[in-house]
Amino acid sequence: MSGNDLFPLAMMAIILIGVGVYVSQPLIRDRSEDIFHDDYSETPMHHLLSKKDSVYTEMKDLEFDYSTGKLSEFDYEDLKAKYSGRAAEVLKEIDDLEASASDESKKEDESKKEDQSFCSACGFKLQEGDRFCQSCGAGAP
Ligand SMILES: [Zn+2]
Repeated sequence: MSGNDLFPLAMMAIILIGVGVYVSQPLIRDRSEDIFHDDYSETPMHHLLSKKDSVYTEMKDLEFDYSTGKLSEFDYEDLKAKYSGRAAEVLKEIDDLEASASDESKKEDESKKEDQSFCSACGFKLQEGDRFCQSCGAGAP
């Protein structure tokens, strides 16, 4: 094998390594930042569910990149830990949101019942839908 045969191979290797680094760097950086981009144009629950989906998608991509050798084991473990933590956080946020949503609807039911009962000024019994007390004229609560 002469030097002339090796030269193109060496160039090819350098280009491939260069391209590999160039392509994989922004991907790794995007992953850690972009998936956590907040978009409040939808409801909080939509927002959380899409966040959950993107975390799971990123985790799948991560497995794929690792299996194809695109990621080092160190990067893989590091990102995997981040995503797992993020997934757990999002799931907890979803739970919290569901819990607070059901709490609020309960509260609403209770306050409706209370609002309809008695005038706060004179204690006269208010009818459903009354805006003013029929006894003293005070505004119904
Ligand atoms: Zn009254």
